[in-house]
Amino acid sequence: MLSLKNIVKHYYVANQKVEALKGVDLDFRKNEFVSILGPSGCGKTTLLNIIGGLDRYTSGDLIINGVSTKEYKDIDWDIYRNNSIGFVFQNYNLISHQTVIANVELALTLSGISKTERKKRAEEVLTKVGLADQMHKKPNQISGGQMQRVAIARALINNPEILLADEPTGALDTETSLQIMELLGQIAKDRLVIMVTHNPDIAAKYSTRIIKLLDGRVIDDTDKYEPEKEKSAVTRKKRRKNSMSFLTALSLSFTNLLTKKTRTLLTAFAGSIGIIGIALILSLSGGMQSYIAGIERNTMSTYPLDIAKETFDMSAMVGAVMNGSNKKSEKRESGKIYMNTVLDSVADAYASQVKYNDLASFKLYLDSDAGKEIRDLTSAIQYGYGLNVQIYSTDTSNGIMRVNPSNVLSGSGLPQTGNGAVSVGIGMSDGSSDRVWGEIRTSREIFDKQYDIIAGEYPKAYNEVLLFVNKDNEILDYSMYSLGLIDPKPLIEKMKNASSGKDIADAAGAIPESFEYSDLTGRTFKFILNTDIYAKNGSKWEDKHSDEDYMRVLLKNSPEIKIAGIARPAEDTPLASFSATVGYTHELVEYVISGINKSEIVKEQLTNPAIDVFTGKQFASNETSATEFSFESLSDTQKAQLAGMSEQERTAFIEAQMPSSATYDDNLDKLRVIDLNSPSSVSIFPSGFEQKEKIIKLLAEYNEKRLSEGNENQVINYTDFVDTMMKSVSGVINIITYVLVAFVAISLVVSSIMIGIITYISVLERTKEIGILRSIGASKKDISRVFNAETVIVGLVAGTLGILITLLLNIPINAIIKALTGIGGIAALPVIGAFSLIVISVLLTVVAGLIPSRVAAKKDPVVALRTE
Ligand code: ADP
Ligand code: MG
Repeated sequence: MLSLKNIVKHYYVANQKVEALKGVDLDFRKNEFVSILGPSGCGKTTLLNIIGGLDRYTSGDLIINGVSTKEYKDIDWDIYRNNSIGFVFQNYNLISHQTVIANVELALTLSGISKTERKKRAEEVLTKVGLADQMHKKPNQISGGQMQRVAIARALINNPEILLADEPTGALDTETSLQIMELLGQIAKDRLVIMVTHNPDIAAKYSTRIIKLLDGRVIDDTDKYEPEKEKSAVTRKKRRKNSMSFLTALSLSFTNLLTKKTRTLLTAFAGSIGIIGIALILSLSGGMQSYIAGIERNTMSTYPLDIAKETFDMSAMVGAVMNGSNKKSEKRESGKIYMNTVLDSVADAYASQVKYNDLASFKLYLDSDAGKEIRDLTSAIQYGYGLNVQIYSTDTSNGIMRVNPSNVLSGSGLPQTGNGAVSVGIGMSDGSSDRVWGEIRTSREIFDKQYDIIAGEYPKAYNEVLLFVNKDNEILDYSMYSLGLIDPKPLIEKMKNASSGKDIADAAGAIPESFEYSDLTGRTFKFILNTDIYAKNGSKWEDKHSDEDYMRVLLKNSPEIKIAGIARPAEDTPLASFSATVGYTHELVEYVISGINKSEIVKEQLTNPAIDVFTGKQFASNETSATEFSFESLSDTQKAQLAGMSEQERTAFIEAQMPSSATYDDNLDKLRVIDLNSPSSVSIFPSGFEQKEKIIKLLAEYNEKRLSEGNENQVINYTDFVDTMMKSVSGVINIITYVLVAFVAISLVVSSIMIGIITYISVLERTKEIGILRSIGASKKDISRVFNAETVIVGLVAGTLGILITLLLNIPINAIIKALTGIGGIAALPVIGAFSLIVISVLLTVVAGLIPSRVAAKKDPVVALRTE
C-alpha cells in the first residue's frame, strides 16, 4: 500500500548540501509492525517525515495506494496527513494550553466533525489507551507515559491506516516504555505501524519487521516485501472535508490567550485607547448634535418663519466687499494712482442682493382658500406693519416724557443711538435689542410654553402690556430709565460729575436696586396716535409735539396703557423669543392703525390727494419741479402785484406760489398711515417641526406657481435663520469632530502596529503548536486562521474594552458638563457608533495580524516541530 522508490532527501544548511537520504527503496504491507533502527543522524526521522507527508522528498517517488505523489498539491498532503497518518513523537508534542481531551479531538476538529461526535470518539480512544480518568487535565498535570498515551490516542482518533512513531519511548523509563510498546503492538494488529527506535531489544520483541538504516541508506531488511506479488489497490481513500472551522480556530486561540491573560488584557487595553478617544469624541459630538436637533425640534420649530418686505443676503454682501477690496490681481502701471472701489462694490452687492417681497399678494394668498393648507399647519400667522407706538409717561409734572421712542436719557451724556435710545452695547448690532418696547409676536400657546407669568396676568385688552424680566428676575437699568420708571437724575448727575472731574460719589439720590412686583404691575403710560400731534390751524395742520401745553392736554385725554403682568422665561426654555422689556399685543397695533386711519388729518389727506395737508399747497406734479418758480406761469394781476411788493413780501409770495416739496406718499408715511393688506413683515408660526418642513415645501410651491404664471415679482424670498444657524453650528461641530477623529486615528494605527508585533511574538511562541497542527493535517490556511482568530479576539476585547471604558468615562464627563452648563446627558455614545468602533477595532487588528499569520502559515512543519 505504501511504496518508496529511490527516495533522496537533501537539506541545504548554509549552502552546504546535507544528504539525509541517499536513495531509499521500500515497500510496506497494509498490516505490519515495522521498526527502523540506526544510529543517530542516519536519516530515520527524515524518512518517517517523508512517509508521513510532513516533509517533501527531493527526488524519487512515494506511491500511496498505487498513486504517485509527484503531482500532490498541498491540500492532497493535508488530507493524507489528516486521514491516513497518525504521528507519535518522542517528546509527545501535546498542545500545553489544551486539555487532554481537547488535544485528542484536535485532528477531528480539523476534519470538521461535529462536537458531540468528536467528544464521543475522543472518549472512546482515550479509554482504549487507558486514560479515561485523565481526560480533563492539562498535559503538564500528567506523567510522561500518560502524555505519550495521549499522543497515541490523538494519532489514532482518525483511525488512520498508518501510524508513525518517532522514538516513542525515547524519553520514558523502561517499565513505561514496555507499556507503551504493548499498546503500539495492539494497534499494529490492524494497521501499518512504522516505529523509529534505537533500542534493538524493543524492536526485536514487538515488531514483525526490522529495517536498518545507515548514512541515508537501507542496509538491512528482515522481511522484505515484493508488492508485485500482491494486487495493488488503486482505490484512493475518499476525501473528507478537511478544513478547520473558524469557531475551532477561535476556541483554540481563546484557550491560548487565556494562558496569558495579563498580556492579552494589556494588549487589548493599549489597543483600546484609540477606540476610547474616538468613542469619546463621538459621544460628545453625537450628544451635541442630538441636543441641537432636540432644541430645533422642540423649540425652534415654534419660532416663526419671518418674511420681511425687504430681504437681503448679508453673507453675499460681505463676500462682494471682500472681493472688491481684494482686486490685487489687476495690472498696475507705475507712476499712476489707482482707486480701490470698495463702496462701489458694496453698492453693486446691495443692488444685487436686496430683494423685495410682495407681501400684499402673499397676504392675499394666505387669507384665501389656497392658503388654508399653510394656515392649518400653523399656530398663528402674524403681520407686522413696522409701527412704532408713541408712548408717554403718565406723569407730566416734570415735563413731557416720551418713553417710546424714549427721550428720557437724552442730554445725560450717555451715547445715543439714532432713534433716541441709549446704546448700551448689548445684543445685536442692528439695535433691535435696544428697543424697550416691542410687539409680542408669538401665539399665546407658544408664549405659555416659553414664559411664566410671575405677577399679574397676560394682557386681556389692547391697552395692556407685559413687563419682561430675565431668568434671574432682572431688568436692565437702561430699560427702567427709558420707561421713566426710575428717576434718571442721579445717573445724569453722576455722568456730569465724571465729565467735569468732580467726585462721582457726590451725585444726589440713590439708584434703587430692587422692586416689589406690585411696584411695577399696574403702572400706567399714555399712548397717542402719530396723527394726534397735528392740530389744524386755518388750512394747514401744524406739528404740535413741542408745544408743551398742547401735549399736556392731549396726554390727559389719551388712552392709558397698563402693565398687566410680569413675564419671565420658563425654566426649560433654552431661548426665549422676546427681546424687548415691555411687550404689547397685536391688538394695540391694530388699534393704533385703525385710529390713525380714522383721524381727521388722514381723512383730509386721503380725500384731497393733490394738496399737502401740512402746507395747504399743491403737490408738485410730474411737469413742475418742486424747486422751480416760473414767472411766466403767473397771471397778469399777480405780475402787477409782484412789481409793487417789497423784497421781503416778494420772497414770501414766491414761496407761496411754489408747489409743496413733499409728495402724497411722503405725507402718508409721515402720518403712519398703514394699509392692513400690505404688511411689512409676515411671521408664520409652524405648529411643529414636521409642519415647519411642510410649510417650507408649500412656500416653494407658491414660488414655483408665481414663476410659472410669470409673476416673478411675487416670489417670496426669506431666510430660515434658525435653520441656517443650527446648520452652521452642526457644520462646525462636524468639522471639529473630523479633525479630532483624524488625530486620534493615529493612535489607532500605532496600536494596530503594536498588535501586529504582539501577534508576531505569539507566532514565534506557538511555532511548536503550528508544527503539531500541521502534523495532524492542518493546512496552511488553517494555521493562518488560528492566528487571525487570535487577532479577532484581541480586536474584539480591545473594542469592547474601549466602549466600556468610554461609557464609564461618560458618567463623570456628563457630571462635569452638567455642573458647568446645566445641560445633562450630553455625552452619550450612539449605539451604531459603538458597534462600528468594535468592528473597526477587529478589522484593524486583523489587518495588523495578517502578516504574522502568513508567516505562521508558511512555517515548515518539520522545522516547526524541531523548535523547543
Ligand atoms: P535521525 O532521526 O536518524 O537521528 P535525522 O533524520 O533527524 O536523523 O537527520 C538525518 C540528517 O539530516 C542529519 O545529518 C541531520 O543533521 C540532517 N537534517 C535533518 N533535518 C534537517 C533539516 N531540517 N535541515 C538540515 N539538516 C537536516
Ligand atoms: Mg531522529
